[in-house]
Amino acid sequence: MHPLPTPTTSDPIPTQLTDLAADQPAHATGRPATAQSSTAQSATAEPAPAPADFAGAQAVPAPRARPARVGRNQARAGTGRPRWGPGRVHPARVGRIQARAGTRRLRRGPGRARPKPTPTPADLATIQPLVVPRRLAAARPLSSPAPLAEAHPLPSPAELAAAHPLSGATAEAIAQHRDTVAAVLARRDPRLLVVVGPCSVHDTSAALEYADLLATAARRLGDDLVIVLRAYLEKPRTITGWTGLLAAPTLDGKGDLATGLRLGRSFLTEAAATGLPLAYEFVDPALAPYVADTVSWAAIGARTVASQPHRHLASWLPMPVGMKNCVSGRLDTAVAAIQAAAHAHTLPAVSSDGRLTTLQSTGNPDAHLVLRGGPTPNYDKASVAQARSALTAAGLPQRIVVDASHGNSGKDHNRQPTVVADLAEQISQGDSSLAGVMIESYLSDGRQDPETAHPRPDLSVTDACLSWSRTAPLLDTLALASRRRSRLGG
Ligand code: PEP
Ligand code: MN
Repeated sequence: MHPLPTPTTSDPIPTQLTDLAADQPAHATGRPATAQSSTAQSATAEPAPAPADFAGAQAVPAPRARPARVGRNQARAGTGRPRWGPGRVHPARVGRIQARAGTRRLRRGPGRARPKPTPTPADLATIQPLVVPRRLAAARPLSSPAPLAEAHPLPSPAELAAAHPLSGATAEAIAQHRDTVAAVLARRDPRLLVVVGPCSVHDTSAALEYADLLATAARRLGDDLVIVLRAYLEKPRTITGWTGLLAAPTLDGKGDLATGLRLGRSFLTEAAATGLPLAYEFVDPALAPYVADTVSWAAIGARTVASQPHRHLASWLPMPVGMKNCVSGRLDTAVAAIQAAAHAHTLPAVSSDGRLTTLQSTGNPDAHLVLRGGPTPNYDKASVAQARSALTAAGLPQRIVVDASHGNSGKDHNRQPTVVADLAEQISQGDSSLAGVMIESYLSDGRQDPETAHPRPDLSVTDACLSWSRTAPLLDTLALASRRRSRLGG
């Protein structure tokens, strides 16, 4: 199915973590290493040059525009009392002056013919913000930020995976799941994909309890449904809010990626061991190498589907990726994302040893559309037909997953059963473009604010979910619809 690595018995499970980096240790010479080649591994990885590579390079020319004056202006901006008297430089002009100074210097400099040096993160960290909006000035000191590399070191993806490994059997099952999901999307497998589970995981024990319930249902309904557990650990926010277990494991707004990564990966490996395929929304591409090997179905969300880094990430991810229509309801961005993900790209990525690496993707042939509604729903028969036409016009196969939550339920979980019933009817009538359905479901009905003093483990802290007791009958309904469609030959 997918051209990217799939485990075989002769080729040890190539997790995405190991795919990302060459096995060679970081080269003392600073020359990029080449990834180990194998027939099953078509992506190549080249670690970015070591910091030592930049040692001999010409430093980025420092702007020379009246630094003392710029400094004074910055200091005033910091006090929130800028004074623009005669002879003073207005902040808006600082950038222009610096740009001119930089140009002059480059024109005059003896190094004109040399290739432009690439700044190291340390170089970049020395570049100070020049103009701080007054609104922010009081809250943000104008001192140089801490050097990026030393700020808060995280384990490398390989270190995290060593601490929380997938068993060989689970890794093999994940490879199988990815093939199965791709086959369902391509309608080579007549079953219906159902991506179901909490909007976000905030309590790993309770989420594993939910996973056990779902795993039992998945086995029972396995002839008609391919059930995938939503195991979402990153949450995209429209403005602000809890960003998910990986970045903020304690729910109190304090970020702690080091703890979140350990807790999150431990959860994912345990959830995968239930035998369920896992669904995951990739929000931060830098975190993908820490978790991607556990995932069988991926989403690029409504807020990031226009983003080039996410589309490029999808082109590398070795599992089917659902592209959601925009929050505005527009489909064309998601359709373009499917097309972009199908192509090969060169992208930066974190290697298994935690270095920045150049990655060559081969393109994802299993990217597909997810209808999640917008200001108005788009799950109805007419909207699905419109989506089919948009896919056909773009030369893409008609394969669609419909999310019963979010814009399709107006964020009211009580409406999800109505949406699911409508979709079940469309499926029963033989619509073979409807490859899957998504439901936001958890142990208990509804939601709570993450800032709640003592958040309940069984209640969503992001979008409201349907309780398990209200979800189970919906799975039966979808199984029946899938069976009817199969009988019709769809
Ligand atoms: C989600 O699946 O919880 C989510 C945030 O979805 P969307 O991107 O459709 O809003
Ligand atoms: Mn949600």
